[in-house]
Amino acid sequence: EPLLQARGLVHRYRGTTALDGVSLQLRAGERLAVVGGSGSGKSTLARLLLALDTPDAGTVALDGRPVRPGSPRSLRWFRRRVQTVPQDPGRSFNPRMRVGQAVAEPLACLRVPGDHGARVAELLVAVGLEPDAARRWPHEFSGGQRQRLAIARALAPRPDVLVADEPVSALDGVVRLQVVDLLAQLSAAAGLALVVVSHDLGVVQRLCERVLVLDAGRVVEQGPVAQVFTAP
Ligand code: ADP
Ligand code: ADP
Repeated sequence: EPLLQARGLVHRYRGTTALDGVSLQLRAGERLAVVGGSGSGKSTLARLLLALDTPDAGTVALDGRPVRPGSPRSLRWFRRRVQTVPQDPGRSFNPRMRVGQAVAEPLACLRVPGDHGARVAELLVAVGLEPDAARRWPHEFSGGQRQRLAIARALAPRPDVLVADEPVSALDGVVRLQVVDLLAQLSAAAGLALVVVSHDLGVVQRLCERVLVLDAGRVVEQGPVAQVFTAP
């Protein structure tokens, strides 16, 4: 049974059909890229896979259980296990919240009891930062380090899947590749599955095993990265 499964997702904005019957399956630990031109539906798909929007038709299921968008309990269950990393880590941290509190925020939101200090330190080390970063402020960190903090925050509730829409597009050069390699390493080490929207073929090839190509809200191709990106 797949870990995460989408069936027949349809999503319309006023007048625009952004997704027109998209299905996908993700196995535990698998790394899937979503690619396609601008306006092909990538961001909409990511939002539906995160249960941030409700599809007009179709379902998203985790371990075979469909998420129920109207149910706070179902959403809490789903969101603990399906986390995200923002596109621009610069704007995703409250400047008045210390890093330790920010990284522990999902645990507080999900009402995980206890003192999260040890867990935060472990997470900071896992993403390549010093444990004493917890006492500092987000603005003291560079863009790449802030994306590491965002990854630590996403991992706090021990999710099974990260769904990320352009997680490294705000970073350049070496820093971009370092964050890509961190995601690959975390996925391999913890069996974390990834769904990554990216327009960067280099990122897709370095990070993902399988790719799904969207065009006008439909899946037009999918398969192993090496196969899809080989000219016929
Ligand atoms: P992509 O991420 O591949 O660029 P999107 O999912 O953002 O694609 O958009 C798919 C289609 O839906 C596009 O035609 C886009 O203009 C439209 N769209 C996206 N968001 C909205 C919105 N909030 N309101 C209206 N149309 C939207
Ligand atoms: P991306 O290609 O990364 O999705 P866009 O520039 O297409 O970026 O979209 C940025 C934001 O604008 C998204 O929140 C999207 O939902 C919204 N958006 C996209 N297209 C439209 C549209 N036609 N009308 C209103 N909002 C839109």
